[in-house]
Amino acid sequence: MTKIAVIGAGVIGLTCAVKIKETYKDLDVVLISSEFSPNTTGDGSGGLWLPYLCGSTPYNLIEKWGAETYRFLYEQWKTGGYGVCMLPLYYFYRTKEKFHTPEWARMVFGYHELDSKELEHYSKLFSGKYTAGQTFTTFVCSPPTLLTHFLQRFEQANGKVLQAKLTSLQDPLLAQYDVVVNCSGLGARFLVPDDRVVPLRGQVLRVIAPWINQVVIDEEGGNYIIPNAQTVVLGGTSQKDFNTEVDPKDTDFILNGCKRIMPGLERAEIVKRWVGLRPSRDAVRLEPEEKNGKLYIHNYGHGGSGFTLFWGCGEEVLQILQTYLNKNHKLYINSKL
Ligand SMILES: Cc1cc2nc3c(=O)[nH]c(=O)nc-3n(C[C@H](O)[C@H](O)[C@H](O)COP(=O)(O)OP(=O)(O)OC[C@H]3O[C@@H](n4cnc5c(N)ncnc54)[C@H](O)[C@@H]3O)c2cc1C
Repeated sequence: MTKIAVIGAGVIGLTCAVKIKETYKDLDVVLISSEFSPNTTGDGSGGLWLPYLCGSTPYNLIEKWGAETYRFLYEQWKTGGYGVCMLPLYYFYRTKEKFHTPEWARMVFGYHELDSKELEHYSKLFSGKYTAGQTFTTFVCSPPTLLTHFLQRFEQANGKVLQAKLTSLQDPLLAQYDVVVNCSGLGARFLVPDDRVVPLRGQVLRVIAPWINQVVIDEEGGNYIIPNAQTVVLGGTSQKDFNTEVDPKDTDFILNGCKRIMPGLERAEIVKRWVGLRPSRDAVRLEPEEKNGKLYIHNYGHGGSGFTLFWGCGEEVLQILQTYLNKNHKLYINSKL
């Protein structure tokens, strides 16, 4: 009987757990994690679809995983699922040379590079000196809603859940499993151990501002405004730091920068100040590794793009598992007995 353990109940691990258990209903799948929603990195994140801070992950992979996730969010939006909103996004640069047309431009709806007239208009509207920019239609999910629903989906499919902190990939708790799917995010730095995984500290505020219905990103200014279904996320920072305390200096930077872009935020009530550590890596690690008679499938290091790549990465994990089960036909057949 093939036994599978998925490590990590963040957006990456939950997606894999759901996909594997819903595909292989008769396999024994357990989700092992030290933290669950509302205490994962994704819970406080912007939930925005935008390839961002994902190192030098090859463009073709960003495009593939990103496109599958974009399509998934589109389908959810059509059916009103997971609090997914469809919104226009405006991304501005102050230095023209820093702007390059992204590879994924061809697969998002309504991609358009801003001309000089538009840049003049938005520079006045958002009080910035923008010399380049782009706009397209994107999706924003409500992260806690998505994470809670995914956990419910997994449990409804008879997946098992275990809260535990693993000491390494050789932890005795993993001994009985044939396949280990490692979605431990920043935890991979210690669990694997992989020192290429580093924290990228992000501080954000959540405010009530229902009149804001577009995403605005000032790349070089460092500020962004991301409306979710209930609140608006104001950001942000990206510092190589393990500090998870809210820093008043960062709060001032966020508030002043976002109010410069949208002065109306002066009237917005602040409902949350939050810090999360993005699991940053020079490139996302998504690959199989056969070791000590087990298959490990690593899926971590998504940086600032966990909610942009999760569904596509989950699909790739499923394909790796399928190939392995087909190769080890006996294992899977036995599991069906
Ligand atoms: C301020 C901020 C804003 C962001 N905004 C966006 C955005 O708008 N769009 C976007 O795409 N991305 C965004 N991100 C990035 C996104 O949140 C992350 O890429 C994503 O949450 C990573 O998911 P994950 O499942 O890999 O990691 P995590 O959510 O950190 O989950 C890792 C899981 O592994 C478990 N774990 C770790 N070590 C162990 C161990 N030893 N034993 C057992 N369990 C373990 C943890 O408990 C946790 O459940 C943002 C991040 C921040 C900080």
